[in-house]
This record gives sequence, structure tokens and C-alpha cells, in this order.
Amino acid sequence: MKITEIPGISPARQKALEETGVHTPMDLLRFFPRNYLDRRTVLPVANLKGIGEKVTVMGRIVETTESGFGRKKRFEAILQDESGRIKGVWFKGISYFRKSVKKGQFYAFFGTVKRYGRFLSMAHPETEQLSVNEDTSGQSFTGIMPVYPGNKFFKNTYITSGLLRKWALAALERLKPGEFLPPGLLRKLGYPERSVAFRHIHSPETPEQHSIALERFKFEELFLFELSVVTLKKEVFDKALGPVMSESRPFTSRFFNQVLPFELTDGQKKALGDVKRDIRSGNQMNRLLQGDVGSGKTVVAIGALLMAVDSGYQAVMMAPTEILAEQHYHSLSEWLQPLGITIRLLTGNQKKALRYDIQSDISGGTAHIVVGTHAIIQENIRFHRLGMAVIDEQHRFGVSQRAQLREKGENPHILVMSATPIPRSLAMTLYSDLDLSVIRDLPPGRKPVKTRVVSEKNRKKVHDFLKEQLGDGGQVYIVYPLIEESEAMDLKNATEGYDQIRVEFPGSRAGLLHGRMSADEKEQVMRDFKENRIQILVSTTVIEVGVNVPNASVMVVEHSERFGLSQLHQLRGRIGRGARQSYCLLMTDVKQSKEARSRLGTMEETTDGFKIAEADLKLRGPGDFLGTRQSGLPEFRHADILTDQYLLEQAKNMAFELLEQDPELDHPELSALKKAFLPYLEKKKKFFQMS
Ligand code: ADP
Ligand code: MG
Repeated sequence: MKITEIPGISPARQKALEETGVHTPMDLLRFFPRNYLDRRTVLPVANLKGIGEKVTVMGRIVETTESGFGRKKRFEAILQDESGRIKGVWFKGISYFRKSVKKGQFYAFFGTVKRYGRFLSMAHPETEQLSVNEDTSGQSFTGIMPVYPGNKFFKNTYITSGLLRKWALAALERLKPGEFLPPGLLRKLGYPERSVAFRHIHSPETPEQHSIALERFKFEELFLFELSVVTLKKEVFDKALGPVMSESRPFTSRFFNQVLPFELTDGQKKALGDVKRDIRSGNQMNRLLQGDVGSGKTVVAIGALLMAVDSGYQAVMMAPTEILAEQHYHSLSEWLQPLGITIRLLTGNQKKALRYDIQSDISGGTAHIVVGTHAIIQENIRFHRLGMAVIDEQHRFGVSQRAQLREKGENPHILVMSATPIPRSLAMTLYSDLDLSVIRDLPPGRKPVKTRVVSEKNRKKVHDFLKEQLGDGGQVYIVYPLIEESEAMDLKNATEGYDQIRVEFPGSRAGLLHGRMSADEKEQVMRDFKENRIQILVSTTVIEVGVNVPNASVMVVEHSERFGLSQLHQLRGRIGRGARQSYCLLMTDVKQSKEARSRLGTMEETTDGFKIAEADLKLRGPGDFLGTRQSGLPEFRHADILTDQYLLEQAKNMAFELLEQDPELDHPELSALKKAFLPYLEKKKKFFQMS
């Protein structure tokens, strides 16, 4: 059936609908109202108090007037019923209402009643002309009226909410959409059948009818999603065999008992326990390790790498940037080389001869552990016997890179690590192919960073403070959002800032770090800073991830309003790593958006990464929050993975139960479900590159 077969859809209106993504009658049905006006309370005018109550009144228009000029212009219509009079007032669209609200005719007004002296009035009431004295068509007006999302195309072609409702109901009448949720499930959850639910969305009789119908549609999509998660997990992930690692772990024990200078936190112990269990199970490990910046994920990673080496396998650790890869390489070398373990660093811009040497170490098996950037997953890199792959800061990588790493060995175990702590249900949804370990605690003795938003006019004070801290042996990060001055924005850039800093702080040495420098230059600067030959590091956001210099206790973020919340949190994670009290100063000029203020306020209030992530999620929405690389984010039309977590949980349990009883969905009662589900599953498989 074509959409134009529905009465009232002219070619121009069809075009307007298409612009909105509504192409078919089914699309019309699935175009849900964004809001509802409850107009069920019809009151006689005499009963109105005029204290802001929302009501419907019905009566005859006894007078219309236009007054004022220009912006003061207004149109008024006095409606009278048996008990009294009320005035409708319009300030906009006057030419339209002049024509549509006519003296002598019967109307219903719906709106908020205010009293001005003796007079009751409604500003911009919803209106509907009643064909006869009161009732008949008034019946529909006094119901609950849907309000659909509007746009300029609708406006230009006079597509109103009233029309959209009428069309949706007409589409429903003709399509008679079938049910696919199993009857038993519907009964259990008390949901209406699909076609009834559609009616209750577009034309509810009570608010309850609408809310249960909406819940049904949310559940429906979450249920399909969870069915796919459970199926994929059973069919694909859980069946993938992985190397069985040995019970005896000499390197691992020596590292934890003799080399590591501190006690593990409970979170670290638990995460290591999860890894240990996974790699002994016979199946491939696919685990996400989540922990706030500074929670000590690297130590867990080292444990995983060593357990593989203990079983005669090679292990890799992949990081998103060269600086980070190099840093991991250095700390691993320092800790593990004394144990007799060979570690090699592999990055994109190494000299040919060196590269060749590294490659042959990897393919020959002399390299036990390889640390590197995504250069690791390039085609010409072959492993002798890869058994474990750790991916650090995984939000910088996509699903495909994980798949590529898998192909480098015979089903190596995979541990991905993320410092973006996201709510559990969201993690479950996003990384449905992964098991989850969370480190909740921080190593003991950390002093929370003190954070202040500082306005530009207090820069002098900031400099005094920095001098004091530097005089006291501290080190300072100064972070800029941009590398070079762009013409459009008069941002100070890191280079310019660096020059100023050198003038301002003649007693300290400053270094500059940005993305355009060669790897060697960057490494030199980082090392100088680490070893305190440089006291002030002026930098762009390249220091964002992972960099570890415990003596650096002050961070100044320039133009902090330009940074996202999670990014600020990551940056701040660079300080507060040593014994000194740390300070984070968020520089900003006066004019900020409301959202920027909220972000900076959150930074001042808390250092808890989970809280910050949640606030960021709320501000930006999941898609934006997780970045474009995470195209894996399931698109839900109705459900919101943040606010509908309970429903998600329920859908998950029911999907699990159903597939437990009937893995192939072969029961006749499930045939409609199966038909709806299979195409959905195919799409998911494609995404994980499994078909
Ligand atoms: P992240 O989780 O952000 O990657 P790191 O692994 O870089 O954190 O650890 C941050 C710092 O904490 C490092 O200096 C590390 O040596 C230290 N650290 C890790 N675990 C512990 C612990 N259990 N006790 C004390 N310090 C620890
Ligand atoms: Mg880290």
C-alpha cells in the first residue's frame, strides 16, 4: 500500500513527509508523538479560577477584536458558554487566527487559564471549531491529543498534529500490523497487542494506556536486541576456543611477589582473577577491563601478558598513540627485563633496519611481549605464537581492530581496557560481545585533585601560584586545545603560550609537546619532563591518555570551555599521581555556554570518573559521548539506554530465558518472532564481521 492512498496526503505533503523520513504507511505508524495534551477536563467558564489550570472550555465566539501595532499587535476572541466568558489572546500568527476563529461559531479552547482583574483569558489556546452546538466532534477535541514533532516542511504544507494522527490511524486500519512478541510474554508483561498499542500511541484514551503502549514498543526493540546478544554470545563468542594457559605461572608469581613494589587493590585482584579463570576455561577470553584513570589497569594488563608468556605464548599490548606505547614499553622493560623476558616496541615510524629486526623477532618468537601502536595489526606483522592481546584505551579503537588482532594468532585471548567508565547497562549494551571487569577502587593514599575554574582576569594570581609550586619542587602541565592559531578563532596556541611561559618563568625550564613533532622529539620532551629536566610542559592534548609523571602536581587547562567533560577528566588524571597535593586550574573567559558552565561545574564538584561519565552522557547523549568510532551503538527508536535500564535488564532476562528453552525459536508460537528476528540478527553479525 502506498502512502498516497491515505486520504489527505497530496504530492506536496508526501514530499514533506519524505523529508522527515516518513515514506510508507508503516513509517507513519512509527512516527510517534513527542508529547500529549490532556484535554479531558471540560469546565464551565464560571468554574475557572484563573490560577494557571489547564482546561478545555467550549462555547460560542461572541466577539473578536484586533488591536495594537507592530510587535504589540494582538488578536482577541471572546468565548461564551452558559456560565460566563473567557478571552483567547493571540500575539503571533494573527492573520491565520483572524480567519480561523470566527464570530458566531462554536469552538473549543484548550489552554492555561489566567485571571487579569475580572477577566479570564488564555494565551494562544489550542482551538478547534465545533460543527454543532457543543458535543459531537467536540468529543475528539476533549480527548488526549498527540503532538507530533514538527518541522518547516510540515508547516509549509499545513501538516498538523491532528492530520498526522488521522493518517496514522488510517494507516493502522489498512495495515493491521501483526504481533510478533510471544503471547505468553505479552500476558506476563501485561502489554497490549501490537496493533492496539499503535492505537494507544496515536490516540490514547488515558495517560496510562499511552505509557504502557510506549513501554511495549521500547521493550520490543530491546528484546530483539537482547535476543541477538544472547544468540551471538552462545553461537559465536562462547564457542570460540582459546588457548588453555597453564596452571603454573613462574613469571607471573615472581612479578607480583618480588618485582611489583606495592600491594594490589581489591579491584585489581578481582580483575586478575577474572582473567585467570577465562584463560583456563578453554574458550577465548573477550573481556573489557574498566577502571578510572589512575586505577592501575596497567598492572592487570601486565599480569595477563605474563600468564601467556608463562604458557609459552607471545603477548601484545596495543596503545592508541606512540607516546603511550613508548611509556608502556619503558615501564614493562623496567619491570620485566630483569625476569629475562624480551620486550619489543613496534611503532609506525621506525627505521627500516630496526623494523626488520623487530619483525623477525616477532615472527621467530624471540620477542615474548610486543608493545606498540596499531602498527601491530599491519599485514606484514606475523607472530610466532600469539596467545594474548591487550588493547589499552580501547575507545580509541573500533570493533574491526579487535577482529584484526584476533586474526594475528590462533584465537588469542583479548583484554581491552578503558578509562571511560560507563554505566554497566550501557557497557553491556555496547560491548555485548565482551565480559566486564570493573576496578572501582583507586590505589591507597591518593589525594583528590583540587579543581577550580579560574577566569582570565585572575591570570596573574595563577602565575604567582605556579611560581610558588615550582619553587616548592613541583612540575606543571599547561594544556592547550589547538596546535596552531586558526584564523577563525582567536585562540592562543600552545606554541605562543610556550614562548610566553618562557618569558614569565625564567627560573624554570619549559618544554613544548604537540602532535606535529616527530616521535623522537616527543619522546625526548616527555623523558625530560619525567626526569624533571623540564618543569613546565606546555602541550596540546597529546598528553591526554595514560602519561604518568607522579611529581607533576599542577595542571592548567587553557580555554577549558572548549574541552569535553570526559576529556577534561582524562587530562586531570595526569596529576594527583604522587604524594603532593595536586591542583587543576580550568582557565576560561567570561562568556560560556550554559552547557560549558555545567561541564566545568561538574569538574569542580567531583573527581569520581563514574559520576563524570554519567554527567557527560547526559549532556551529550550516548552517540556523541562514545564518539564516531563506536558505530556499534545500537540505534533504538524509543528506548533510551540511560533511562530505561530496568527495561533493558528485563528484556535481557526474558531473551535469555526464551533462548534457554528454545534456542532455535522453533515453537509454532514463536514463528512470527523468528521471522522478525532473523534479519535483525544478520545485521548484527555483519557488524561484528562474522558473516
Ligand atoms: P590507569 O588505570 O590509568 O592506566 P596506571 O596503570 O597508569 O593507571 O596506574 C597509575 C599509577 O598507579 C601508576 O603509577 C601505577 O604504578 C600506580 N599503581 C597501580 N596500582 C597500584 C597499587 N595497587 N598501589 C599503588 N600504586 C599503584
Ligand atoms: Mg592507562
